[in-house]
Amino acid sequence: MIDDIARRVVEGGRVNAAEALELYRQAPTHLLGHLADTIRARKHPDGIVSYIIDRNVNYTNVCVAKCNFCAFYRPVGSSEGYVLGFDEIFRKIDETIAVGGNQFLLQGGHNPDLPLAWYEDLFRSVKARYPEFKLHALSPPEVIHISRLSQLPVPAVIDRLVSAGLDSIPGGGAEILVDRVRKLLHCYGKASADEWLDVMRHAHRAGLRTTATMMYGTVETDEERIEHLMRLRDLQDETGGFTAFITWSFQPEHTERGGGEATGVDYLRTLALARIVLDNFDNLQASWVTQGGKVGQLSLAFGANDMGSVMIEENVVRAAGASYCMDEVEIVVNIEDAGFRAKRRNMHYEILGDPIFREREIPRMLTLATARADGDVSVPDELTNYAARSRAGKRIRLSQ
Ligand code: SF4
Repeated sequence: MIDDIARRVVEGGRVNAAEALELYRQAPTHLLGHLADTIRARKHPDGIVSYIIDRNVNYTNVCVAKCNFCAFYRPVGSSEGYVLGFDEIFRKIDETIAVGGNQFLLQGGHNPDLPLAWYEDLFRSVKARYPEFKLHALSPPEVIHISRLSQLPVPAVIDRLVSAGLDSIPGGGAEILVDRVRKLLHCYGKASADEWLDVMRHAHRAGLRTTATMMYGTVETDEERIEHLMRLRDLQDETGGFTAFITWSFQPEHTERGGGEATGVDYLRTLALARIVLDNFDNLQASWVTQGGKVGQLSLAFGANDMGSVMIEENVVRAAGASYCMDEVEIVVNIEDAGFRAKRRNMHYEILGDPIFREREIPRMLTLATARADGDVSVPDELTNYAARSRAGKRIRLSQ
């Protein structure tokens, strides 16, 4: 049975859910790696492994969703809650451009005191100052949150955000796209599986490209992990709008859920399975941010063709205990030592060129920046332009 499925995968055939389960449960790890690597080599015969220089910025940590796997959020009214000011965000863009970056991955909590106009004003002011800078921003649950707050349908919110400067949507908040799991993780309220997929459908129809993700290793069964992949594959058949898939394991430290973390072997098997099932996705990223640089490098033999982002700033995974850091030099060493050619790319996976540190001197970034300095409790001036909804938000506005 395994041999038959493996032969079909090598010949370019598609696997169904039962076959994917059989592979995941029964195939030796080296066989899964071989199958995934065969597909990777067929899709990327040039031996290029890409990466992007961008910055992972979290504009607020205030969140009403309270997912039980999240160590990042703070409830409304918390003294540790923050919203970044526009000036602070411009400063982060300047630093990103200085190291050769061209994009923000901009995501945050579901803050009830930030209306749609705040996002529009932010995007417009970024584009006015930095017309070439890209905004890969607002995962589907954030779009749904803004839609509920503004009482506008999701397609209208996406249109307004695109008019303001949104370039593409990151695939965060997918976790596992099965509602039984979402209810147990306390993330069904922020977006059901159908709602998450619907945002992506609307985004693709509006001409945006997006990524897709999977966070595994909590309460899902093997079957549910595969159902997640199948749902992504179906939507990709329908729209072709996903540029890439990224998977990582649940990081338990400091979370309400707690528990253990999946192993590196499980990560590599899950990544390889994703490459086999997602035969209509061109790009798979290695999640070295959660798995570390060495497993990240091994990922290139298990189906990944992209090292993701040079990490300049990271807040979410670090809050849950993982704080791996690699700058461009280290990412390139890891790619080249694995036998591949390293190239910079943009969000559309278009190759931009060779490593930038070989073209010009750039500062090395050997520690990760944070969203804001420890102890900084300042409130951005421009927040007074936007009416707050929560009692705590109103109090902060009044005190300014
Ligand atoms: S994962 Fe996102 S939506 Fe869930 S609690 Fe954390 S910040 Fe909020």
